[in-house]
Amino acid sequence: MANWTRRGFLGSLAAAAPAAPLAHPVRGRLPLLQKRAGAGPVKITDLRCAIIGRNPTVRIVTDQGISGYGQAESTKAYLKPMVLFYKDYIVGEDPTDVERVMLKIRRMGASKPWGAAVSAIEIALWDIAGQAAGVPVYKLLGGKIRDRVRIYNGGVRFPMTAHMPRDYAENMARMKEAKEGFTLIKQAVGFHNPAMMRAIPNAWYDEPRKGAPHADRGQMTERGLAHVIACVEAMKKVLGDETGLALDCGPGWTLKDSIKFARAMEPLNITWLEDLLTGDYTPYPNAELYRDLTTSTSVPIHTGEQIYLRQNFKDLIEKQAIDVVGPDPEDVGGIAEMKWIAEYADLHGISMAPHGIFDGLIGLAAHVHLAAAMPQNYIAFEYPVGQPDWWYQIVEGLPDPIVKKGFIDVWDKPGLGVTFNIAAAKARLPEQDRNFFD
Ligand SMILES: [Mg+2]
Repeated sequence: MANWTRRGFLGSLAAAAPAAPLAHPVRGRLPLLQKRAGAGPVKITDLRCAIIGRNPTVRIVTDQGISGYGQAESTKAYLKPMVLFYKDYIVGEDPTDVERVMLKIRRMGASKPWGAAVSAIEIALWDIAGQAAGVPVYKLLGGKIRDRVRIYNGGVRFPMTAHMPRDYAENMARMKEAKEGFTLIKQAVGFHNPAMMRAIPNAWYDEPRKGAPHADRGQMTERGLAHVIACVEAMKKVLGDETGLALDCGPGWTLKDSIKFARAMEPLNITWLEDLLTGDYTPYPNAELYRDLTTSTSVPIHTGEQIYLRQNFKDLIEKQAIDVVGPDPEDVGGIAEMKWIAEYADLHGISMAPHGIFDGLIGLAAHVHLAAAMPQNYIAFEYPVGQPDWWYQIVEGLPDPIVKKGFIDVWDKPGLGVTFNIAAAKARLPEQDRNFFD
């Protein structure tokens, strides 16, 4: 068998390619692997991107019949030209040397949303590397330490017509009863939930803003802060101590409002408070301000979904400015970045709760492999939902049901272990992307 067990975490993959046909052939891939036994290194021949549903989907094509897939958030349908920008840098390279390929393109990315194309390509490289070695991606990350991974609910939602405390209580009751059996639910509050902030007059000392996501910010009025706290109290009453509640809060709060809010949350045992000060599309983390907040409360403080690359977590982690980091594999630079950040955070007593709500079903697979291999600082990742619903008909390899009692069983098929039902997926391709699978 391949020697991945000794090479360990993020080691070179070139030598991991099997010398003989593998014991874990995937349907339709055995002839390919037999061909690979005597073949030279794999070479990238093409990089493609199609907008499937709303998710930009990346396909890296190789000269040996293996294709790798990656995905970006469904909020980024504009991403295709950015993906294709990197094509000339990676064609001709060996995709199983993931890091060598990434050295060519990683520097040409940035904070969300401009790290997404690099991230989707990186995930597709790991998919190829796993398939070429005949092992699931988690083996290439050092192996799994858990057979099932906890997820949290950010994407299973029910419509709301009003935004007062009783409405949030009713909505939370439906999420608690959802078929996935979530053990942890995240809810948007404060500036992260414009409808909540606009439900009462004069909730904060600025006017409502439009434009790029999460434009509202400022000091809250007494009644504004009281409204947010009342909504959380109503939700918590429904959940009791059976289901955890995390809150996605901003960005845009002042430091003092954040401290007042966090202290009000202490008796409610909130799992974490996310992005109070910066976050989402804010292109800087502001570690000093976060440290002032974190040291002022016993509620875990969380941020990081918009941050690109491990280097940009350095301040937050080394200054212990937060308690939980939540990078998204589809924005941070991919799978390797996530693994490094998880390990480095663990060294500093900081937990991991990755962002993922819009990551699609290929992204879901990347999350599962990562979560299986993260250290014990792992809490849960945000469960992405396939949208539109037909995504579940065009992807093969996911468990059925996917979520059982709030967990997903880790699968062991090579690579990401999910692939497309090509015939079904072709029917969903937009006209301009009709050659994506050819
Ligand atoms: Mg968030």
